[in-house]
Amino acid sequence: MNKEILELIHRAELIHNQHHPPIGWWGRCIFLSWYCTIADCDFCYRSTQKSRIQHASHARRSIPSVLIEAMVAKQMGWRIEFLTGGFGIFPFDELVNIADLVSRVYGEKIWLNLGPLSKAQINAFRPYIKGICASLETLEPILHEKVCPSKPIAPYEKMLSQAEGLKKSIAIIIGLGEKREDFSYLGQFIEKHQLDRITIYRLHPIPGTPYAKGPSTEEFLWWIANIRISFPDIQIIAGTHADFLDEIDLVLRAGALGITKYPISKKFCSPEAHLIEKKFIGAGRQMRGTLTTLPLVDWLQEISRLDIPDDLKQGMIDLWPQYEKRLLRYHPAINQIEIKK
Ligand code: SF4
Repeated sequence: MNKEILELIHRAELIHNQHHPPIGWWGRCIFLSWYCTIADCDFCYRSTQKSRIQHASHARRSIPSVLIEAMVAKQMGWRIEFLTGGFGIFPFDELVNIADLVSRVYGEKIWLNLGPLSKAQINAFRPYIKGICASLETLEPILHEKVCPSKPIAPYEKMLSQAEGLKKSIAIIIGLGEKREDFSYLGQFIEKHQLDRITIYRLHPIPGTPYAKGPSTEEFLWWIANIRISFPDIQIIAGTHADFLDEIDLVLRAGALGITKYPISKKFCSPEAHLIEKKFIGAGRQMRGTLTTLPLVDWLQEISRLDIPDDLKQGMIDLWPQYEKRLLRYHPAINQIEIKK
């Protein structure tokens, strides 16, 4: 780690500690599908799948599986980062219904990241959401046009300017080809839209896309620390990846409040999950919730208590054994489950 970055992290950490309590959290995105009708953002997994999926409806997740994730997130103390998914998969009314159901299961209003919404659409979601996120990937206009040719920035700007009364956020990716001097585009955007939150991912190159390499730890930290220094109060959520768990303590010290993206429901209680918790402690943060300790919950009873239609409860009950087995793959309790069967 070079001296310049270490000094930057130190400055960012001091500012962070003046503006935020020593608490961090795990963020969990809930995806509704693995397909989208745009599918030409050049870094995106979905851009590699479009030709393979003949019917978009086959790429949707079932609602009970979405609701199981919301229930598990609640019981584990994870924050739902946002409800998201590909464009054009569910009819609009169904999306509103899903947001309602997820917020009921989670027990609080949620964040939404479903593409550029009109004012009327935002209002339809309003009873169930606390904030709205725009996945802009990069703010440098020429680079944005190259990376996301069919996803212009302007409709997202319009959405953010019409989202009065809601919290606002953007998601960006480091490693798409941005330069450090492009920070000014980001800073101006945060300022202009008075953002409450930013989710910053590190590029994870997907086979079949033009990218072979993600950003270095130094580069990722540079962006996080500069956001924290320039915007002391903003919530920064940083994405991580299996190969970069070691950097999490530095990412937190550079100013991130939460960590997201790593598939923790498949890795609950794994050595990696223990490592992440240690990284929070190493950064002087107490983690909200748990990645390693199974809460004392009777899950089936929990499902039966939910304020949702009976057919969805039954769908969750039917799916639960499969989900539980995956969730507890690394947990000693898996033996008890297998014995019961
Ligand atoms: S719009 Fe979103 S999901 Fe669709 S290709 Fe672009 S980044 Fe991927």
